[in-house]
Amino acid sequence: MNNNYIRIDNVDINSPYDSKPVDIEVAKRNRSRLIIPLFLILIFMIIMSVYTSRQLKNVSVSNITEVGEDRIHSVSAQLENYLYTTKSVTWVTADTVEFMTRNGSSSKQILDYLTEESERQAAQFDENYTGIYGYIKGEYLDGVGWEPPADYKPQERDWYITAKEANGDTAIVPPYVDAQTGNVIISISRMLKNGRDVISMDVRLNYIQSLMDELKLKGKGYGFIVDDTGLIVAHKDEDKKGTLINDEAHGEDFFHEIKRVGNGNFTYIRDGVRNIVFVNEIMDHWYVVIDVSEKELYAETKSQMFVNMIICTVIFVMIAIFYYFGYKNEKNYARRMEKMKMEERKQEYETKMLKIEKDSADQANRAKSVFLANMSHEIRTPMNAIIGMDEMILRESDDENIKRYAKDIQSAGKTLLSIINDILDLSKIESGRMELVQVRYEFSSILNDIVNMTMNKAKDKGLKYNLEVDPNIPSIMFGDEIRIRQIILNLVNNAIKYTAEGSVSMSVSFDKVYRKLVVKVTDTGRGIKKDDLDRLFNSFQRVDQTANRNIEGTGLGLNITKQLAEMMGGDVTVESEYGKGSTFTAELVQQIVDVTPIGDYTERLKESMDSKVEFGPTLLAPNAKILVVDDNEMNLMVISELLKVTKIKVTKALSGEECIDILREDSFDVILLDQMMPGMSGTDTLKVIKDENLADATPIIALTADAIVGAKEIYLKEGFTDYLSKPIMYEELESTLLRYIDSEL
Ligand code: ADP
Repeated sequence: MNNNYIRIDNVDINSPYDSKPVDIEVAKRNRSRLIIPLFLILIFMIIMSVYTSRQLKNVSVSNITEVGEDRIHSVSAQLENYLYTTKSVTWVTADTVEFMTRNGSSSKQILDYLTEESERQAAQFDENYTGIYGYIKGEYLDGVGWEPPADYKPQERDWYITAKEANGDTAIVPPYVDAQTGNVIISISRMLKNGRDVISMDVRLNYIQSLMDELKLKGKGYGFIVDDTGLIVAHKDEDKKGTLINDEAHGEDFFHEIKRVGNGNFTYIRDGVRNIVFVNEIMDHWYVVIDVSEKELYAETKSQMFVNMIICTVIFVMIAIFYYFGYKNEKNYARRMEKMKMEERKQEYETKMLKIEKDSADQANRAKSVFLANMSHEIRTPMNAIIGMDEMILRESDDENIKRYAKDIQSAGKTLLSIINDILDLSKIESGRMELVQVRYEFSSILNDIVNMTMNKAKDKGLKYNLEVDPNIPSIMFGDEIRIRQIILNLVNNAIKYTAEGSVSMSVSFDKVYRKLVVKVTDTGRGIKKDDLDRLFNSFQRVDQTANRNIEGTGLGLNITKQLAEMMGGDVTVESEYGKGSTFTAELVQQIVDVTPIGDYTERLKESMDSKVEFGPTLLAPNAKILVVDDNEMNLMVISELLKVTKIKVTKALSGEECIDILREDSFDVILLDQMMPGMSGTDTLKVIKDENLADATPIIALTADAIVGAKEIYLKEGFTDYLSKPIMYEELESTLLRYIDSEL
């Protein structure tokens, strides 16, 4: 059998202390719960960063292409504008000279004009216009006054030859080093209509060269201008000006590609590096070019992409960290929850165990109580016979010795009964089934009973019996009359029991503020040692055993008394001086029904004592008939014998059935009906009697050996007229019958 299971009523209680095997599967599942989402996030981030990088590259490529083309067009436009202006000036000047020639102007006049015009152009436009000159009517005329060397033949110069080739159009002469200034210049020439004279204007390339600074992309790369023949007109690197592009490292293919593209861009690889080239063809088949390495161009984009990657990585790491902590928190939370659940299970288990323990204790207690109740019943029934018969002996015997023996039997019988009652009470208190039965009662009647039951005992021991009753005690109160009597009686009886000489005093008062009945019982007896005071109220505790050896007792009385007082919202306390005496105080909370003060009780008691007649039978009713029903013949005999003195006619029935048979034939003044009978119980019999109206006017008194609390109320509720508990004491029997039968005494 598994030791972790406790089998009770077929219910398995799984101990929470069971050590469970570590669930590897669960641990693996938890790990994969962390890793899979992170892995997915990582994949997502990679896709995202690749995608954004590509997008970024695409955007920047199209952006750069746009910017590149914008730039080149803007520079081209400036250049074209410059060249156009220059051409226009040349054109107009040539027209004017042609006009002047035709009109017969002299060479001197034409030279003056050229001089004037040269100055004007330089002033109006740009210092780059170096001057206007020409070959007119077989003579070289120079607007800035340059004197050519003797061997200078204009017809052999490029400016003349180019103009001639252009055939009346304005032509740009490729750059050359000016013999005069050493500057690189271009000439713009035009031949006059006579096919002989040429007007030309020199323009320094400084302006065009200055445009090279603008031929860049975002400050990267370099620009140059090349003409149709591959001659470099302007170049970022000034030394290259006037050289042929084919001499460049680019090679011939590069120039072909420029010419092929014309307007647009292309890429090529140089020294293992990809370059992007923007080209724009302008007038006279000049090509404006920007050449930039992609590496340089995209360096920014690349660093942007790199930053992107870093940001993505940082975000991923942060997500991973947050996720990890979240996961850890969740794990801790789950662990805490698990711990809480474990605690709950533990508590549940403990509660169940406690319940089981309580149930079994209750069960044992119930069994004990049932046993005690049965025992008490079983003992009471023969006690009924013993006490009843003993009463008969006392009454009928004339032998003094026999009477003394009978008295001893009577006293022992009463002690035995009180022990049974105490044990029964204690078992009820311990099993929590002791209940107070609250009724209206007259306090003076309780006092009467106590005085009646104790005064003679004290006097017999030679003790002074003092009674002090506060006249202001409310006359009628509400509470458990029987238990109050029991409490006070126990204290007074103890005082008498444990006092050899001196006095026993009872003082009773009522605390109106707290509604407490305060009963103080003081004696001049043996007292109690200080050390014993604490355990005095424990059950089965008798203190000072040696001194009390000869005094009968069980050690239950004070325990029951205190517990009953506590049930009433009060307490029992003790003060004592060893060897001198003790004072027991009972404080009992009671409700007031009638505030009328009880008055001078002691005075009334004295009067009644004085007028009290000697004991003798008070009931004599020779005409009365009673029916006694009990399954025990001895009991029947006891009652009929006890009632002999009353001369009442007693009819006996041994069962409920017999009782009913008799009642069908006869009628009685009182019926005494035993409760516990085999076959029909007293209650069953009563029901038939009532149902069949067999004894409507007859008081039916319940007889029972069950000394349970509230028994009287229960039987009255069931329809009985009155209640008598066994063993039946004659005084009680007589006083009960007196309520229903008229005595002739
Ligand atoms: P018992 O049946 O022994 O009287 P109780 O519970 O009534 O049981 O009392 C417990 C013990 O307290 C007694 O055995 C006795 O030693 C002590 N006791 C009770 N009342 C007094 C008293 N008035 N004077 C001295 N001792 C007392």
